[in-house]
Amino acid sequence: MIYLDYSATTPLDREVAKKMQPYFSDIFANPASIHSLGQRALKAVDDARYSIAAALHVSGNEIIFTSGATEANNLAIKGIVEEYGHAKSHIITSTIEHDSILEPCNYLKKRGAAITSIGVDSKGLLKPEAIIAAIRPETVLISIGYVNSEVGTVQPIKKIGRILKNYNERMYKTWLNTSPRKRGSKPRHVYLHTDATQAANFFDCRPEFLHCDLLSLSSHKIYGPKGAGLLYCRSGLPLHAMLHGGHQERNLRSGTLNVPAIVGFGAAFTKALREQAKNNARISKLRRQLATAIQKLYPKTTINTPFEQASPSHLNISFMGWDGEALLSYLDEQGIAVSTGSACASGSLSASHVLLAMGRSESQARSTLRITVGKLTAASEIAQLNRALKNYQQPG
Ligand code: PMP
Repeated sequence: MIYLDYSATTPLDREVAKKMQPYFSDIFANPASIHSLGQRALKAVDDARYSIAAALHVSGNEIIFTSGATEANNLAIKGIVEEYGHAKSHIITSTIEHDSILEPCNYLKKRGAAITSIGVDSKGLLKPEAIIAAIRPETVLISIGYVNSEVGTVQPIKKIGRILKNYNERMYKTWLNTSPRKRGSKPRHVYLHTDATQAANFFDCRPEFLHCDLLSLSSHKIYGPKGAGLLYCRSGLPLHAMLHGGHQERNLRSGTLNVPAIVGFGAAFTKALREQAKNNARISKLRRQLATAIQKLYPKTTINTPFEQASPSHLNISFMGWDGEALLSYLDEQGIAVSTGSACASGSLSASHVLLAMGRSESQARSTLRITVGKLTAASEIAQLNRALKNYQQPG
């Protein structure tokens, strides 16, 4: 099978798999157990925690291991709102977020929270000023994805973070300088969360670089195992737990830790960083070759990924007048795995909310493939995809 769906998930790196192996059946103990086998499991979790923390330039106790980015996103959004109460919270997000952001926001909206979704331009880009302009006294959180999973657009998180930092400081200073009789209650600090799931392979995700307070990551998008992820939460933030029970992760995420997956996540994260520059260059070259070849073959295609402001892996492309689902099935029969949108949304009948938000028509959105290249993609595989596309006979 030729796999070109790396943003849905990545294969487990063999070196990473090897590092995980002892933690299934040999050092299998519960890391909360006091005996020495438990302590060896705990050490493995701590080693993974501190290697990820060092790479992110954060402290180990600012990392909360979760089952993946869906859980991390839910924890960030619901966990902050819990502090202020549903009816007293306002969240700012965007129209192109992943469902694991949109759905928790919808859930909170039904319970009285206010949600503002900021629109994007035709490249899928947000304007930082529009986000800051949407802040109200009840705003508690801004949640914006770093890299979009469908089109690959990279948002200016660093700029949003910097402007927000200045905004928070200004509001606080104004309040401090107002006489105690005249000033109202202390202004809320507006926190910034970014879902960096699709960014970790390619871009700098250090919270200090991005000026963000909360950041989600997932192991299976970076050649690590499924079932592990994390939420970075700046220390001192009023985050509430969503899962209660065994007091793991400083009471913020109860449940026995998935030791082999966390070990694999740690190894995968450090390896992804080590290989970042090399992989980025290779992947982006293959992606460009592919795009050029397809456009030569079918000049009527539209590339929805803005290459100059996108992940090097993504090629989201519309084949005007064609049915994306039919094309995907044909390629599958030819032994080539691609996607029509995000894995979670594909299979559903509605057109991609991301492409619609970018101003594409329903029919254009339905004629789209998302091809994502990864570190194991060979040039010969790209050539094979081109041959398959050349031979494609539209049904009907
Ligand atoms: N956010 C983004 C941007 C994603 O692409 C995904 C995976 N499709 C998720 C969150 C969910 O991650 P996980 O599978 O680890 O729950």
